[in-house]
Amino acid sequence: MRYSSQELMDMEQQYGAHNYHPLEVVITKAEGIWVEDPEGRRYMDMLSAYSAVNQGHRHPRIIKALKDQADELTLTSRAFYSDRWPLFAKKLVELTGKDMILPMNTGAEAVETAIKTMRKWGYLVKGVEKDKAEIIVFEDNFHGRTVTIISFSVDPIARDNYGPYTPGFVVVPYDDLEAVKKAVNKNTVGILVEPIQGEAGVAVPSEGFLKGLETIARENNVLLAVDEIQTGLCRTGKTFAFQHEGVDPDLIIMGKALGGGVFPVSAVAADKEVLGVFQPGSHGSTFGGNPLACAVANEALDVLIDEKMSERAAELGAYFMEGLKAIKSPKIKQVRGKGLLIAIVLEESAGKARKYTTALKEKGLLCKETHDWIIRFAPPLVITREEIDKALEAVREVLG
Ligand SMILES: *Cc1c(COP(=O)(O)O)cnc(C)c1O
Repeated sequence: MRYSSQELMDMEQQYGAHNYHPLEVVITKAEGIWVEDPEGRRYMDMLSAYSAVNQGHRHPRIIKALKDQADELTLTSRAFYSDRWPLFAKKLVELTGKDMILPMNTGAEAVETAIKTMRKWGYLVKGVEKDKAEIIVFEDNFHGRTVTIISFSVDPIARDNYGPYTPGFVVVPYDDLEAVKKAVNKNTVGILVEPIQGEAGVAVPSEGFLKGLETIARENNVLLAVDEIQTGLCRTGKTFAFQHEGVDPDLIIMGKALGGGVFPVSAVAADKEVLGVFQPGSHGSTFGGNPLACAVANEALDVLIDEKMSERAAELGAYFMEGLKAIKSPKIKQVRGKGLLIAIVLEESAGKARKYTTALKEKGLLCKETHDWIIRFAPPLVITREEIDKALEAVREVLG
């Protein structure tokens, strides 16, 4: 039995918890940058599942890796060795330049892992007094949905009514090095930062911000953890966004596109002095590093490299951004971003973004608003120049 879009949306409203407010479109099929609804209408995906589909929907190599691995071995748990996890760990070590990898599944789990690592390092290596460790985080951050992570969110919708909250976090304004310097003290074990704040509406910090954080971290014996879950794996025109400033963070947190648009795969990369704080039993995950995930992630990384996706993102992102900036409209306040992570910030007088994302959908473009006034454009990195021209035409018709 095939259901219509309306029937499916009604069913979701009735039976699914309402923790999302989806755009009114149902997707049944996808390939590359294109998705299709039950009625056969085709749309360009301009969200890429929040950058989890950088390689494009159902990349043939990644799907083949999934199917081949499914025929061999899927899950062992880490109680035993497998023939997949060591290969994936080695590949990720080569990609990040760090010594070791700790595998998890969702992004939030990788962030939790980084937090545990920094705290444990603080007690065992830095010598911070028991239960006094502090981690510096930033206003408007988004690092996931666990109780500990939302404890340091400043977004009331994400945070309210989930207390009691986890202590040990100090929130300072983003892009403000002076505030970070003031917040550092003898109990500070880490700084946790997004190189670009994606969920906050693609907030790009001033040049030198990350480099400045690195300096503060070095001078004060504090670890620098970058959350590259959304910005990493070629999205912004480099393998990792911190590479734009030549920074060498202590912990690199990855997720989303690591799973090739197929599977939740996340990881933390760091050197031995840092990730070496874990001993058997002190942290783990039943599914973390499972053979099926590792086979998929391995291929997902190879695809990014072989298809030169960071170069594509840099070049096509610049082209897309130039095109958006050329649209003359009293509704547009600002166009900002890096690589293929771009946002249009609307003037308040234009009204809320939702009506424009709905209008863009009618023109065949699936974008999602972030907050009330921002429209994000983050297509799969396999998008072509011709397809960007098509997208620009739709944006021009809706906003121009
Ligand atoms: C999506 C995201 C997360 C959380 O990842 P999940 O897989 O949804 O848990 C964390 N940090 C950033 C920057 C993200 O964009």
